[in-house]
Amino acid sequence: MAAHPRKGFEVAIVGGGVCGLTCAVALQKAGVPVRLFEAAPAFGEIGAGIGIGPNAVRVLKDIGVLDAILQKTGEGDLRARGFVYHPGVGEHRAVYTTPAEDPVDRGIGMHRAVFLNALVSIVDPSVSQFNKRCVSVAESPTNPKRVLLSFLDGTTHEADIVLGADGIKSSVRKYVLGGIDDRLAFSNTVAYRALIPYVKLKAAGFRTDLVEVPACFVGPSKHLIVFPIKNDEIVNVVAFSARYDTPIGAVKLPDGAAWVQEVTREEVQQEYKGWGPDVSILIDHMPERPSKWSIHVVHPPLESYVKGRVALLGDAAHGMLPHLGAGAGQGIEDAYLLARLLSHPDTSIDNMEEVLRAYTKVRQPRAQMVWDRSYRIGRIYDGNGPHGVDWDYIGEGLDGMFHSVWRHGLNDDFEAAVRALREGRAFPADNGP
Ligand SMILES: Cc1cc2nc3c(=O)[nH]c(=O)nc-3n(C[C@H](O)[C@H](O)[C@H](O)COP(=O)(O)OP(=O)(O)OC[C@H]3O[C@@H](n4cnc5c(N)ncnc54)[C@H](O)[C@@H]3O)c2cc1C
Repeated sequence: MAAHPRKGFEVAIVGGGVCGLTCAVALQKAGVPVRLFEAAPAFGEIGAGIGIGPNAVRVLKDIGVLDAILQKTGEGDLRARGFVYHPGVGEHRAVYTTPAEDPVDRGIGMHRAVFLNALVSIVDPSVSQFNKRCVSVAESPTNPKRVLLSFLDGTTHEADIVLGADGIKSSVRKYVLGGIDDRLAFSNTVAYRALIPYVKLKAAGFRTDLVEVPACFVGPSKHLIVFPIKNDEIVNVVAFSARYDTPIGAVKLPDGAAWVQEVTREEVQQEYKGWGPDVSILIDHMPERPSKWSIHVVHPPLESYVKGRVALLGDAAHGMLPHLGAGAGQGIEDAYLLARLLSHPDTSIDNMEEVLRAYTKVRQPRAQMVWDRSYRIGRIYDGNGPHGVDWDYIGEGLDGMFHSVWRHGLNDDFEAAVRALREGRAFPADNGP
């Protein structure tokens, strides 16, 4: 992405997770002044793996951070994404493999902290401030064209544009929704997560090959996603368990209940009682107290990710079920489009509201398509798809699911947004993309 002369406006990003940091790096590299406000005392990620799909890998390459990430992971190369699917109960024969032979379908599986640290090493340290939990967003009382951020520590900050990358529990989303956030919903799905040394699994007789392509063990109302990270030394396991007897959002966690908690390994063993040999080995090798996540999503979908000069990205905008391994990837696409549009030579302090409207117009349908697919694919994995638990037909439901997520052209969103801006006369008509 080419750098442009410094813009006469400043962007403030709320939240320094994967999406906020990607956006900060992309804006910084494109010459747009940016500040980042993070609630935690330092950048940090949870102890778990993350799969970055080919679409997001292309963004990371274009903004010039892919090499730094690959260096940190020690992988040196991209891997096939997608899965080999195995029934989780009984014999784990392979019933379907996501077609991903084409090099354009390659992605990365890595430790989340490694990914975040690679981004942190690139972002200018002077742009980030910590212990800054945003508690409210409002128009500036002195200049209605500027946005005022207030933080829990009593301080404030004014910026021309605010980007809310503050995750699923976003405080910025409330502003975009006009004061009431009624879109945060429990997904009726929990996930048990663990990192396990591969050597221990093999010693215990684990036979499914994970090195070439990650594995997905499917079964009634439950499935497990399993892939190696750290040069195949560590296996990342996410074991999902879902309810399908009630719509998303109908059940709420009790007030004050933790979304992430440590549970006993016995609880997970009980959930997967009677499953096949490799699943039992995985669960038996989880730590004594694995973490259990009550997964929340943004639902019903936001009509717009933008209000005035404030825009949402990442989970704040479209937190989704993780079944396509694409949630962060969608946030990375958001970050890319925002950085390209805000650094566009025709973007100025006078047309930035139109620019943000073009961003949401293009990104909302794409991210929502991925949200819908993530939900649908989870149902198929859990035996609630058109062929139920007849796993020999699982491929019919899965065929093509990943490709429209992975093969999205990097420039398509950008060109569509610029076209809309030219048609709406926010940008001059004759300048090309
Ligand atoms: C079990 C599971 C597995 C997943 N696997 C994958 C995968 O393989 N691939 C993939 O692409 N996606 C995956 N996802 C989804 C992915 O984790 C999210 O989409 C991604 O982390 C969202 O990034 P984010 O930066 O938007 O939000 P977050 O990562 O939540 O970051 C938000 C940041 O904002 C900060 N913050 C929060 N509130 C405030 C505030 N008020 N003020 C200031 N700062 C604030 C937080 O401290 C945090 O640093 C998975 C999700 C789950 C639950």
